[in-house]
Amino acid sequence: MTDFQSVFGAAPDGVWAAPGRVNLIGEHTDYNDGFVLPVALPHTAKATVRRRDDDLLRLYSEQGDGRITELKADLEPAAVTGWASYPAAVVWALRQAGHPVGGLDVHIDSDVPGGAGLSSSAALECAVAAACDGLFGLGLGPAELALLAQRAENEFVGVPCGVMDQMASMCCAEGRALFLDTRDLSGRQVPLDLTGRGLRLLVVDTRVKHDLGDGAYAGLRAGCERAAALLDLPSLREVRPAALDGALVQLPAELRPLVRHVVTENARVEQAVALLDAGDLAGLGPILTAGHASLRDDFRVSCPETDLVVRAAVEAGALGARMTGGGFGGSVLVLVAEPELERIASVVRAAFAAAGHAEPRTFTAVPSAGARRLS
Ligand code: ADP
Ligand code: MG
Repeated sequence: MTDFQSVFGAAPDGVWAAPGRVNLIGEHTDYNDGFVLPVALPHTAKATVRRRDDDLLRLYSEQGDGRITELKADLEPAAVTGWASYPAAVVWALRQAGHPVGGLDVHIDSDVPGGAGLSSSAALECAVAAACDGLFGLGLGPAELALLAQRAENEFVGVPCGVMDQMASMCCAEGRALFLDTRDLSGRQVPLDLTGRGLRLLVVDTRVKHDLGDGAYAGLRAGCERAAALLDLPSLREVRPAALDGALVQLPAELRPLVRHVVTENARVEQAVALLDAGDLAGLGPILTAGHASLRDDFRVSCPETDLVVRAAVEAGALGARMTGGGFGGSVLVLVAEPELERIASVVRAAFAAAGHAEPRTFTAVPSAGARRLS
C-alpha cells in the first residue's frame, strides 16, 4: 500500500517530482531582471495525486502537521495557513489563469531540506504544478508553470520571491547548470561536468535560519526597486558594469551597496558562464568567494555561521565558497578538488563545532533533472 493509499483510501493516478536547487552564482539578482545560474539537486518533492469527482482540494504532507487539510473550491489566501498554503496557492494560481483544475487529493513527500536555502518551497510548488498540468491535461510548458508557481508564492503565500527557484525546479537538466536571464526568461543549459574535471560541489547546510530574514527580503527588494526608479531605469539589470560608478554617485549612500552587489553579481554570472563554456570549472572558485564577499559586505545577507563556513573552507584549500539562497542562514556551496572533499568537510565541521554551533548537514550536489513525471 502506498502512503497515498493509506492517507486517502484509494489508488493514485500518478506521481510527479520536482527538485530543490543550489544557485552557483547570481544571488538576489532574479527580482532585478538579472542573471542566475542554478543547478537542480537530486533531492525532490514528490506529489502523488488523484483526481476527484467533486471540486475539493485535500492535501497531506509526510513533512506536514499529520492532518489532511481539506479546502473548498473558492480558495482564498487568508483562509489557508501553514505549509498547505504552498500547494493550495498553485491550484489557486492555475485556476486564476483560467486553467480547468478540478478537485484533487495530493500527498507530498520531500527530501529537500526545508528552510535551508535549497528551495524546498519551489520544489513543493513545482511538483504540484507539474502534477496538475499532467492530471488535467493543461499542456502548459515548464516556464509557464514556473511563472504560475512564482505568482502563487508571491500573491497567495505572500512571499515576494523572484522567479529563479521555480524556473530552476521546472527547467534544470541533468549534468547542466541553467543560465537564465530573468528579464525575458531566455536561457541556456550549460554543461557542468564536475566529476569529469575532478571536482565536487559540497553543500553545507548550517541548519540556521535567522528570523531577521523574513522581513529583510522584502526590504532589500524594495531598496533595489527604489534605486532603479531613482536612476530612471526599469530595473537594476540595466546598469552595466562599466556604468556602475556613474550610477552610484546619483544615489543616496544607503542604496549604493545594494546596487553595487546586483551589478557586480550579474557580471559574475556572465564570467562564470564564460568559464564553464571554456571548460575551466576550477576557475569558478574565486567567483564564488567574491560573490560571498559581496553578499556579506554590500548586500549584508550573510550571517556569522555562513561566513564561518566560507572562511574555514577557503582557508582549508577549497577552490571557492559562497552562501546560496536568500541568506540569514541556510546553506553554503563549497567547490573542492575531489581528493580534498573529506578533509575540507571535516575542517568545516570542526570549525563549526569549535564555535559552539550544532553540527551542519553536508552532502555533495550532483546536477540533476528538473520536474518530471515518475509514474
Ligand atoms: P526554502 O524554500 O529555502 O526551503 P522557504 O521558507 O521558502 O525555504 O520554504 C519552506 C516552507 O515550505 C516550509 O516552512 C513549509 O511551509 C513549506 N514546505 C516545503 N517542503 C514541504 C513539505 N515537504 N511538506 C510541507 N511543507 C513544506
Ligand atoms: Mg523558498
